[in-house]
Amino acid sequence: MPSFFETRIEFLKGVGPSKAALINTELGIFTYGDLIQHYPFRYEDRTKFHQIGSLNPDLPFVQIKGRIRKMETVGQLRKKRLVATFEDETGQMELVWFKGIQWVSKKLKVGVDYVVFGKPTVFGSKINIAHPEVEVLTTQNEKAAFLQPVYHTSEKLKAKYVDSKAISKLIRQVMVMAEGHIHETLPDHLSDQFALLEKKFALWHIHFPSNNELLKKALFRLKFEELFYIQLRLLKLKLTRIDKFRGQVFNDSALLTEFYNNHLPFNLTGAQKRVIKEIYQDMKSGRQMNRLLQGDVGSGKTIVGFICMLLVVGKGAQASMMAPTEILADQHYGELKEYADKLNIGIALLKGSTKTSERKEIHKGLLEGSIQILVGTHALLEDIVQFKNLGLAIIDEQHRFGVAQRAKLWSKNKEVYPHVLVMTATPIPRTLAMTLYGDLDVSIIDEMPRGRKPIKTIHQYENKRLQVFGFMKEQIALGRQVYVVYPLIEESSKMDLKDLMDGYESITRSFPDHHVSIVHGKMKPQDKDFEMQRFVRHETQIMVATTVIEVGVNVPNASIMVIENAERFGLAQLHQLRGRVGRGAEQSYCVLMTDYKLSKEARTRLETMVRTNNGFEIADMDLRLRGPGDITGTQQSGVLDLLIADISKDSQLLQTARNAAQDILDNDPNLEKPENWNINRHINSLKKSVVNWGRIS
Ligand code: ADP
Ligand code: MG
Repeated sequence: MPSFFETRIEFLKGVGPSKAALINTELGIFTYGDLIQHYPFRYEDRTKFHQIGSLNPDLPFVQIKGRIRKMETVGQLRKKRLVATFEDETGQMELVWFKGIQWVSKKLKVGVDYVVFGKPTVFGSKINIAHPEVEVLTTQNEKAAFLQPVYHTSEKLKAKYVDSKAISKLIRQVMVMAEGHIHETLPDHLSDQFALLEKKFALWHIHFPSNNELLKKALFRLKFEELFYIQLRLLKLKLTRIDKFRGQVFNDSALLTEFYNNHLPFNLTGAQKRVIKEIYQDMKSGRQMNRLLQGDVGSGKTIVGFICMLLVVGKGAQASMMAPTEILADQHYGELKEYADKLNIGIALLKGSTKTSERKEIHKGLLEGSIQILVGTHALLEDIVQFKNLGLAIIDEQHRFGVAQRAKLWSKNKEVYPHVLVMTATPIPRTLAMTLYGDLDVSIIDEMPRGRKPIKTIHQYENKRLQVFGFMKEQIALGRQVYVVYPLIEESSKMDLKDLMDGYESITRSFPDHHVSIVHGKMKPQDKDFEMQRFVRHETQIMVATTVIEVGVNVPNASIMVIENAERFGLAQLHQLRGRVGRGAEQSYCVLMTDYKLSKEARTRLETMVRTNNGFEIADMDLRLRGPGDITGTQQSGVLDLLIADISKDSQLLQTARNAAQDILDNDPNLEKPENWNINRHINSLKKSVVNWGRIS
């Protein structure tokens, strides 16, 4: 027997099969439960009546009581409109209709008292409302003070009279019947602690709030519940894994010490040392590590990764590092090989472009164990790539890889899952990290290597191009190198490629005495590599490129980053690009070139870049501007498919909910104490009904 909430909406009065089918496809609503969870996205304030004399165009939607003095049709043809003069004791205003004139003029009567609802604007010197909602004033609507819920619907549904009001009526029908079916989903001790509204009241007031106070309470309660159950699940997952998954014990630090004492190219920062310790603690614990390493661009994550690899290699096991692009894999390989050679460690590079014969060698070396470190792109996820004993899998620049790929790496060791270290280049706002990686432990490098000077960032308009070129020349004369980056939004866009080539030509013309490299995604890998290498060896002074240089590329002598059409980049990307400079001891600069015409959002992005170098601050702003879905840009966003809470706005509540979940698990890891009975029942019902809980698996 399906539960009440699984009853299909066909059974509602006034729905029927064809309307139901349309609601299914348009809104994804199939059952009573779905309908109840179709929350309003805003509310219209019907709690008070405004007076015409005090209306102004800055007010949102308003409700007014009054009567129509006169009605007339004015204007010709397409300018034709119906204008009603509407008045109360305090003044007059106009109600205007451009459509449905005949119908409206028949329906409305001069001298009758009406309640009018709409958005006031000013036209000429008069206040008016276009296409207002008009109802005859009754004792009922005069007294009823409420917030009118507004629901998402669609044009197709509206054509079948399923507008916001109709949906509201359906929900009311269900809610009235639901009395007695709605169980409390949170334990009493939580409701007491956070003064939460009971579930059934919260659901009622989210749809039919009689005042703002109750609406706020209902929102708080439902958001809390949503975030609480997500966090509870993630934390439980982590707990289970800690209990269940064994990890190889890597407790021998001899090789690490040798590297540390004899070959370390620079002193590690305090933050680097701290995270290495945290990772070491995990790797010798006997449990599988799943750790996220966050650190701003240039904070030195690569060497941290290498040092952790030494724990594994020192015990005869193997380690891998996976990067999202070939260029980045090359660069990592270059750096790691330098270190590995000093310790006689076998290291190999595996990319999509690696030749078959070479691949075979690598596959063999991995199985035999002669290759101890493998660096590569996602080519190393292929099933044919098998290790003798993979002990540590590092993923660099995680945001480009999905969760599925993380899982694939696990399976590279059938005996014991490898330890997993995920490194992110773009700092992720705390709230997002808590949700996306809420099941991982987190280490943060919050300190830059010493001697780095903060990058100076300037925003320049097109007309200052000559000045910018002049500045580039000065800096090149001082021995520095320059990046000039063009947007390439779609890899295939001919327009973008043309911009890039035009830019390249203009630069070669303007810098006749210098050598210019060019790199873009359409080039063959070996040509790309050739050009990159020329720039790395300082044979060229300027590198014109698309965002292929975004990630990881490291040329410390390059100290100027000019970003063309900077308004077309997102904040995270701008920050990534800027991170390519400021790696040496010299003062570095980032110049953001834009057109005059800028959207408000683009302006905020540019201002943020000029104001701060702090990646975490930038990530927060990015989240606020774009919302969570776009930031991750991958399928992972299933996690972020929230019904009511908003990760970018409810960060405090998210933290509260996570702490509450943690407290409960600390006291009752298996959720079997009587006081947590409500939680248990709710989880079981969710498992059955594939709502939120199921979505985030
Ligand atoms: P990211 O965190 O962006 O991956 P990298 O690991 O590429 O940063 O490091 C950036 C540069 O800083 C590299 O040239 C690296 O050798 C250097 N570096 C890393 N740690 C230190 C340190 N403690 N002192 C000086 N330079 C460092
Ligand atoms: Mg890096």
